[in-house]
Amino acid sequence: MTSAFQQCIDPQCGATYAIDDVRVACQRCGNLLDVAYAWDKLPVPRSLTDFEPKWARRNDPHCFSGVWRFHDLLPFAPLPQCVTIGEGQTLLLGSEGVARYIGLTPGRLHLQYEGMNPSGSFKDNGMSAAFSHARLVGANRAACASTGNTSASLALYCSATRLMRAVIFIGSGKIAYGKLSQALDYGALTLQITGDFDDAMARVQEVCRQEGIYLVNSLNPFRLEGQKTIMFRVLEGLGWQVPDWIVVPGGNLGNSSAFGKAFHELYELGLIDRMPRLAVINAAGANTLYQLVEKRGLRWNGGRPQMEIARRWYDEMDAHNRRASTIASAIEINRPVNLTKCLRALEWCNGVVREVTDQEMLDAKAQVGANGLGCEPASAASVAGAKRLLDEGVIGPDDRVVCILTGHQLKDPTATVAYHSGDQAKFNEVLGSRGIHTAPFANHAIPVPNDLDQIINAIKTHH
Ligand SMILES: *Cc1c(COP(=O)(O)O)cnc(C)c1O
Ligand SMILES: [Zn+2]
Repeated sequence: MTSAFQQCIDPQCGATYAIDDVRVACQRCGNLLDVAYAWDKLPVPRSLTDFEPKWARRNDPHCFSGVWRFHDLLPFAPLPQCVTIGEGQTLLLGSEGVARYIGLTPGRLHLQYEGMNPSGSFKDNGMSAAFSHARLVGANRAACASTGNTSASLALYCSATRLMRAVIFIGSGKIAYGKLSQALDYGALTLQITGDFDDAMARVQEVCRQEGIYLVNSLNPFRLEGQKTIMFRVLEGLGWQVPDWIVVPGGNLGNSSAFGKAFHELYELGLIDRMPRLAVINAAGANTLYQLVEKRGLRWNGGRPQMEIARRWYDEMDAHNRRASTIASAIEINRPVNLTKCLRALEWCNGVVREVTDQEMLDAKAQVGANGLGCEPASAASVAGAKRLLDEGVIGPDDRVVCILTGHQLKDPTATVAYHSGDQAKFNEVLGSRGIHTAPFANHAIPVPNDLDQIINAIKTHH
C-alpha cells in the first residue's frame, strides 16, 4: 500500500511517513499529520453514484458499514483487514419543526443523526478506522482521554473485536452518566484523573509515548479518515447534492477537520463541483476556536497560521487559571488538539465560527427532541448555532443546511430530566449554576394520586 502514506500538514515541511509508522505528530516540526493518498495510483470512483450498488450487498459487512462502503475514499488499509462492528447506519432526516425554530424555510433543514452508531455517537466512524490501522501495525493496547464518547467507543470496539485492551482517561466529575456507564459495562480499564479533559489529554499522550500504547484520540489521523464518511453519507442522503452549509459542534475539532478534508478531496477528485460552507459551533464556556478565529483573526493563512495569537490566548487562560465550563460536556475543551487542521478546513470551506450559551443549547436540544429526533447537549450546539447564523443573516432562509447531531439523546439524561423537571429546586441544582434560568420548552411529569377519576381528570386538563 505505497499509494497511502502520512504527511505533515505544514506545506513548508511536507515530511512524509509510512502508513504503518505510529505517530501523532511530525518528527521534524511537531505539526499534525494527515493520511494522504497518491490518487493517480488508486482506483478512484468516476462518480459518487458508483457507491450505490453496495447497498444491495448488505450481507457483506464492509458494504453494510457506513464507513467501509466508502473504502475507495479512505484506502489506507486493504479492505479485508478493515475493522467493522456495523458503524455508520445513520440517518439524514428533514425536520420542519426544527427548521421553523431556527428560521429556515421548511424543507431546507436536514439533521444528520450520528447517535444511531453502535456506541451512540459519531466517534464510531473514526474508531473503526483507528482500529483498522491499529490492526495493521499490530497494536494490542489502546488509550484515549475522553469527555465520554471516545471512551465509550474505544471500550465498545475492544469488547466487540478483542483486538486490543482499552485504557481510558477521564477527568473527575466531568463525564455524563450514560457515557461512563458504557466504558464500565464494556469492561475498559477506566482511570479518573484529578483534573479536567485538558489535563487528561496531556497525560494520556505522555503515557502512550512512554508505554508504547496506541492513542485513539483525534490527534490520530486515521480517526479523521473514518469521520470523513459522515459527509459522504450526508451527500448520499441528499442524492449527492452538496448542501450550502454544514453546521457542527466544535470540541477537539476532529470532526470539523475531517469534514473539510472530505470535501477538499472530493473536489480535487472532481466528484463534487462546489464546496459547502462550514460553521463550527463552540460552547460559550469553551470557546477557544471562536475567540481565536472570530475575535483575534487567526487564519490557516495558506499553511502559515500566526500561532503566536493562539499562544497568547493560552497564556492568558493559564494566567487566570480559566477552565472550560459548559453543560455540553462533549465539547468542554479549551485546548483543541486539531486547531490547525480546523483552521485549514475553515479556509477550504469558507467557514465561520460561533459560540452559543448553555441556555441556547438546551432550548435547541428540547426542540430537536420535540421534533422527532433526540440528542445530547453538545449536539444541539449545531442547531443553536444555525439559529444564531440565521438571526445574523449569514445563513439565508432558503439555504440548504445540514446540522450534525453528534451524540444520542440518552447519553446525558441528567441534563434532559433537569431541563424538563417542573421542580425548581432540581432545575436550579443541576442547571442554575450553569447560567440556565428558564426552560421554555419544558415538558414536566404531572404528579397524580393513584385514583381513576383524578387520572382521567389530569388527562382532560392537559390535552
Ligand atoms: C466528541 C464530540 C463532539 C466534539 O467533536 P470534536 O471532533 O472533538 O470537535 C461533539 N459532540 C459529541 C456528542 C461528541 O461526542
Ligand atoms: Zn513537519
